[in-house]
Amino acid sequence: MIVAEQKPVEEIIRYLDKFNKIAVAACGTCVTVCMAGGEKEALTLASALRIKRLEQERPLEVKVVTPKRQCDIEFLDDIAHEIGDCEAILSLGCGAGVQFMAEKFKEKPVLPGLNTKFMGVTRDVGIWTEMCQGCGDCILEKTGGVCPVTRCSKSNFNGPCGGSSNGKCEINPGIDCGWQLIYDRLKALGMLENLYEIMPPKDWRSSRDGGPRKVEKKEVVL
Ligand code: SF4
Ligand code: SF4
Repeated sequence: MIVAEQKPVEEIIRYLDKFNKIAVAACGTCVTVCMAGGEKEALTLASALRIKRLEQERPLEVKVVTPKRQCDIEFLDDIAHEIGDCEAILSLGCGAGVQFMAEKFKEKPVLPGLNTKFMGVTRDVGIWTEMCQGCGDCILEKTGGVCPVTRCSKSNFNGPCGGSSNGKCEINPGIDCGWQLIYDRLKALGMLENLYEIMPPKDWRSSRDGGPRKVEKKEVVL
């Protein structure tokens, strides 16, 4: 899922300064799971924004809308009537949601309420960690299901950098060395021979280096 964090209220209130009536748009999927932009967080943020503006003696009218997903046009159609005459939309979707809302509601400013962080997993209650950078050419079959792009701080492809200590990364001792994880996993699976295969330089055009990407499933395109 996409993991995000809410921006500080002080930052948001600054760029809402010229508006008097806004909609806060929650998103019912990834950012609900990571407790950043679900309906509950949207209602809490709406209250905080109202209070901040009352302190400035310039009341702000805030309504909360919650599409199931901001990244699907059908769900944005569903909330169009609720957005109504709001002067601006504060989106609590990920960056994709904010941009898709801006495409849909062309006549209104759509502002980001979150900082989108990464694709990851819920590791424990309240703890999310990054697992994939969407490189576009997955090699997890070679590395025991541990991603060297994401979980090695240097995205090394052919073994560790040599700087790890006690299984921890030299860049950040608070995280496991990705290549230690790969080694341990391959060893446990009896697949250490995978490490003898030298991986060629990666073609990063399948990643962000090739510009914005597109996936098209021709058999379902109308
Ligand atoms: S190899 Fe690429 S696609 Fe696979 S998990 Fe890592 S970043 Fe994601
Ligand atoms: S210590 Fe491990 S995770 Fe950190 S940069 Fe080196 S190989 Fe990558």
